[in-house]
Amino acid sequence: MVAPSTNNTTERSHRAAHDHVRVLQVGAGHIQALADMMFTESSLDLDMKNDLRPNVWNAQVFENLHRFSNYMLYPERGGDSPIINPVAAAVSLSVPIELFDKHAPASEPPIRRVSTTVLLVPSALTLKQLTELTGVLKSDGSFVLTNAADVRKALKAQCEDGRSSWVQDMKALLSDPARFISAKQKAAAQESPKERYTFGCFIQQCCAFAVLVPVTDKSEIERLVRRWERGIPTHAHGVLSNGAQMNREHIGALGFIYRCLCQGFLHRGSCVHVLQWMVSAGVMTPPACFSAARLGHARIGRPSGYGMCMACTVLCVYEYI
Ligand SMILES: [Zn+2]
Repeated sequence: MVAPSTNNTTERSHRAAHDHVRVLQVGAGHIQALADMMFTESSLDLDMKNDLRPNVWNAQVFENLHRFSNYMLYPERGGDSPIINPVAAAVSLSVPIELFDKHAPASEPPIRRVSTTVLLVPSALTLKQLTELTGVLKSDGSFVLTNAADVRKALKAQCEDGRSSWVQDMKALLSDPARFISAKQKAAAQESPKERYTFGCFIQQCCAFAVLVPVTDKSEIERLVRRWERGIPTHAHGVLSNGAQMNREHIGALGFIYRCLCQGFLHRGSCVHVLQWMVSAGVMTPPACFSAARLGHARIGRPSGYGMCMACTVLCVYEYI
């Protein structure tokens, strides 16, 4: 077996993890050791610099972005399958979101739930489940889902048996999580005494969409935009070589950009979901070294992620769904 490459950011971090974790363990033990290592690493990770972190700004992230922007709805149909950009199938929705108001008067709590219009971008798993449920072909031989508008409509459509749609479920979950879980548990029990709404079902529901929340504060937008423009300077000379080109005029006209509620953005101030929205909306042009054309050529050769253990693969999948 070939050791993880040190030239690939994901594989390098995986290799570093295994320097701390004994790998000759059964699965559950390995997961526990890995979780302990990640907790320690997270506790020690206190610096907030102007630079982006390598784990949210690398070839792997942009490769995921380019690949997901050309999502094949029916991969088993190969070249005949319609291809969509999931951002174009995203759904706008008004839900109560916890916001931190640094200008709140002392008499009011700084964290409040405010009704906010968010953008729900379906995950790859949600799209896969959607196509499995709706089927592939209509009676006339055409595809059931042919474009992003069809997908958006299907995500909002209630099931024929009366069960709520993906979007209705997500709205209920974000509005009142405790009530949502108890309603799901009741519905599962009514369906069959053996049926249970498990923790796994709940986690899957939480990851069904990337939830993008608008940022309208001008100083916050400027801080984020500068980080993306700056990229990550090379260590040796501090040279800026992988910054993105940001369309400031377009951002000014929109009056907002998005942040994301995924763990990547919460910890690192950037994530593949926000980058994908910005590239799709014409707000960002990726740096030349991470362009679709460049990474298309880079993909010839050994598949990335090679040599990764199952436990770490699962964690990486959760990072990018
Ligand atoms: Zn995200």
